[in-house]
Amino acid sequence: MLNVVIFGAPGSGKGTQSKLIAEKFNLAHVSTGELCRRAIHNNTHEGVIAKSYIDKGELVPDETIIDMLDAFLEKLPIDQGIIFDGFPRTVAQAEALIEIMKEHGTKVSVLLNLEVEKDELMTRLLKRAETEDRSDDNMETIKKRLEVYEEQTLPVIEFYRKKRLYKPIKGVGDIDDIFGRISEVLNSLK
Ligand code: AMP
Repeated sequence: MLNVVIFGAPGSGKGTQSKLIAEKFNLAHVSTGELCRRAIHNNTHEGVIAKSYIDKGELVPDETIIDMLDAFLEKLPIDQGIIFDGFPRTVAQAEALIEIMKEHGTKVSVLLNLEVEKDELMTRLLKRAETEDRSDDNMETIKKRLEVYEEQTLPVIEFYRKKRLYKPIKGVGDIDDIFGRISEVLNSLK
């Protein structure tokens, strides 16, 4: 079963590529950012917690994210491959994912890291701020999210590198070309 982690800084194109991957490889798309936004919209207990962190550009606590993810995964068919978008974002989450996958009788096949330079990330995020109504897309939170990414999320790369599940992908250029590079890697795993 194919279980993919798509990884990268905010603005690296994880959401866009995840949708293409989910469609082509018939995977369930799980975006923890979307789970948070849905919980906020529905004004749930977890949503209230998530909002207080997201609005500051900080990470939502591991426990809250993992609870939301668990609840989502429970509803999936057991033989359904998954693309994880925006998770794991800390080493503790990466460790939790091993256990979660074990419970589902499966494991992570690969981590794809969308590599994009910082200047380009800033440009993309500021552009997104103009077109999408996301409360966390403003100059101050964007800077904070990139900082948090470097401090708390980057170490996840090493975690997967050690397990030989790490694949860097050039994340700049045409969306279709990036998807082509991703498809090549995923086809080689089948
Ligand atoms: P995203 O849509 O993936 O950019 O996520 C938006 C925001 O949701 C992030 O900046 C975090 O505050 C929060 N978030 C999403 N996924 C996670 C995660 N795995 N761990 C902690 N916080 C998360």
